Amino acid sequence: MSQMNQWVQRGQAALIQNYARSPICMSRGEGSRLWDADGKEYLDLFAGFGGAILGHCHPALVEAATQQAQKLWHVGNTFYTEPQIEFAERLQRFAFAGQAFFCHSGAEANEAACKLARLAGQSACPRKWKIITLHRSFHGRTLAMIAATGNPKVRDGFAPDVPGFVHVEGGDIAALEAAIDDETCGVLMEPIQGEGGMNVWPAGYPAQVRQLCDRHQLTLIFDEVWTGCGRTGKWFGHQYFTAASGTAVLPDIMTLGKAVGGGLPVGVMLARPHAAALLNAGKHGSTLGGNPICMAVAKTIFDQIESQGLLRHALQMEQMAMEVLANHSGLSGRIAQVRGHGLFLGVELKDAPNQLVERALQRGLIINVTAQKVVRLAPALNINPTDWARGLNLVKELICES
Ligand code: PMP
Repeated sequence: MSQMNQWVQRGQAALIQNYARSPICMSRGEGSRLWDADGKEYLDLFAGFGGAILGHCHPALVEAATQQAQKLWHVGNTFYTEPQIEFAERLQRFAFAGQAFFCHSGAEANEAACKLARLAGQSACPRKWKIITLHRSFHGRTLAMIAATGNPKVRDGFAPDVPGFVHVEGGDIAALEAAIDDETCGVLMEPIQGEGGMNVWPAGYPAQVRQLCDRHQLTLIFDEVWTGCGRTGKWFGHQYFTAASGTAVLPDIMTLGKAVGGGLPVGVMLARPHAAALLNAGKHGSTLGGNPICMAVAKTIFDQIESQGLLRHALQMEQMAMEVLANHSGLSGRIAQVRGHGLFLGVELKDAPNQLVERALQRGLIINVTAQKVVRLAPALNINPTDWARGLNLVKELICES
């Protein structure tokens, strides 16, 4: 039996089988390449659900983690630490003038955001506790976040649902307005729905949501777990809304996960001061949240994206993808639409493909399919044009063959 098959067999015996894992055990990574335990090479166009935003084992991140590991690992949040402050200051610089709370995952960041939205609501009126979310959204796997998520499948078998979440159709401002009542305290939405099928909003919708929230004094939460950290070619996905509407379309709270730790467990809630001030001592916490090693890496990710011009690069790579995927006659019968921004792209096929992810793996390519027929491409922001072109051409071939 090969080295890898032995690992897979041990994994099947030792790990809960709650993921639809491929029978592949990854051993090593460098940039946009991975090698499995038998030494087979893969080109990674999904970066571990977007987590490896600068690719695998980026030298600057290895250096940041190593240096911090030799200096300070953990003191607990009854003290300040330098890396937390330095990272939070970068968030203020690149996002908005908010204050940060750190945890370990997207779901936890959204939990914190929903708690804070309730706190803000209940500071005005004790019955304000409902949060409106959108159909086809995804916000995490905790009990409250499966209730928030606009996909009943994630709740199956876990009844009763945590109360207080109301779902409406995204993109329909009248539906959102109709759902607001005296008990509503907030709205939670993704700038682009990732897991739900790479759904982008009609022009003007996010600005209208912001206006509705202002009118009814609701806390607007943007879940930027997928769309944050340069993934879309802007620092944060909501900055497209500001660019489109000419006025700032800012959330009251933004949540981050995945890419923000480059693969280390980091979740962030960034809240504007009026909301942040409510979360006073004892109201929320996390023992290991804001761990110095994770924070040193997160800070370095932002510095790399800035110094290496990776937002511009992501937009150039988007352009290349649009040219390869949108303007090819052999594909026109198969592709319904290519959408997304930067290096967060969805290729919606007309029909559900047959074993596309598995066939790609056989050819040494890592991609993802969500919502049955949307091929997702989310490589590292620093993928080089040669690898990207090779990957896109392989994707094209695989789609044509299906
Ligand atoms: N929000 C969004 C938009 C997500 O896509 C995800 C994960 N796919 C989450 C939250 C949950 O993040 P985590 O798995 O880190 O808890």
